[in-house]
Amino acid sequence: TPIRILICGGGNGAHTISALASSRPNVEVNVLTLFADEALRWKTALGDDHIVIKAHYSDGTQGEIRGKPRLITNDPAEAMKDVDVVFFVVPAFAHKQYFEAIQNYINNDTIIVGMPGQAGFEFQALSSMKRPGHSAILSLDSMPWACRIVEFGRNVEILGFKDILGPSVIAGTGNYKLPPLQYVQRILGEKPNLQPVDNYLAVSLMADACVHPPMMYGRWKDWDGTPLSEKPLFYQGVDEIQEDLLSKVSDEIVATAKAIQQQRPELDMSTVIHLFDWYKKYYPDQISDKSSLRSCMVTNKAYNGLVYPMKSVDGGFVPDFGYRYTSEDIPFGLVVMKGIAECAGVKTPTMDIIIEWAQKKLGKEYIVGSTLSGRDVGSSRAPQAFGFKTLHDLCSVL
Ligand code: NAD
Repeated sequence: TPIRILICGGGNGAHTISALASSRPNVEVNVLTLFADEALRWKTALGDDHIVIKAHYSDGTQGEIRGKPRLITNDPAEAMKDVDVVFFVVPAFAHKQYFEAIQNYINNDTIIVGMPGQAGFEFQALSSMKRPGHSAILSLDSMPWACRIVEFGRNVEILGFKDILGPSVIAGTGNYKLPPLQYVQRILGEKPNLQPVDNYLAVSLMADACVHPPMMYGRWKDWDGTPLSEKPLFYQGVDEIQEDLLSKVSDEIVATAKAIQQQRPELDMSTVIHLFDWYKKYYPDQISDKSSLRSCMVTNKAYNGLVYPMKSVDGGFVPDFGYRYTSEDIPFGLVVMKGIAECAGVKTPTMDIIIEWAQKKLGKEYIVGSTLSGRDVGSSRAPQAFGFKTLHDLCSVL
């Protein structure tokens, strides 16, 4: 019998997984997009045709993958009919909207996948379900591929497949058609290979979001408002101040993991490592100088030419503080890590300074002094926003 999945979203990742999953035998794909008229536009653009993926494989060869979803809709009830697995493939700020739309159709046997989840996905997911009996929640630590839409609704390109991903799995209490991890691997195919980490806290603490805010703060904290004549290099322009901030934030994250491990020896937090070690581990061939954290970033080929998010104004460029490096990576990133640290009883002076600065740019208040007690905590994905206040609370859902 066929299995049926739902893809939530309509961007690069949603196009890619929709086509890829539909190309697999006995897999039926529904797509739900709630964004403006995107569902109608996609349906119209595709007509009776298949979505075509141009895939670039790591051995240098290219291939074509074709797949056609059975349904593209903006109607949650129709979208969720007989669905076993729901993939959330939208930026983190949109997760809540999709959970609210489908929560009445989620049951204990539904598998929920954040692709990627980003820090705090589990809290959002759990709060949308009827606890304590709840379904499986998988959170992928990144998108399985670098991918982009070439022609909306019709053509997409996979620029590269990740070799390995380290998802977290909260098994839940459902009766699944296939074990959750096996199910997702079957949809993705051979690559990336899913090698689960021990628990969701370890994934939340290692999210990309721990890099962008310290970089933004370090670069712009003393900026006097004068436009720049060109966009400065992001990773390749790291200076000693930024390196020090990144390193201190990383120390606070590792200290949080250690404190959790100490209080809960049954959890394995060993995948939470310092950023310097992370670079050496995940970019073994792309970094030419591994002598320091700064040199790892400056000499990383994967980062060639990437610049700061900037807006054009009269006289040049000014930093874009509304870009996801702050607007997402604070409420769905650093604030979540701060919240986990607070549950574990760990102080985070450097994170606090960065959140304090960024929240002003965003017109929000998450932190007051060194505690997560600002008026906007409820709109962040910190555990505290969902009633998780202690390590005991965080572990109660494992
Ligand atoms: P995307 O930018 O293509 O997503 C755009 C989609 O998000 C839109 O098509 C729409 O469906 C939805 N959306 C946008 N604005 C919205 C709004 N205001 N309200 C509701 N929905 C809205 O995203 P993507 O490239 O598919 O990536 C999804 C996530 O994965 C992002 O967080 C991204 O940073 C991350 N990621 C992507 C890649 C990649 O190669 N594409 C790689 C690594 C990580």
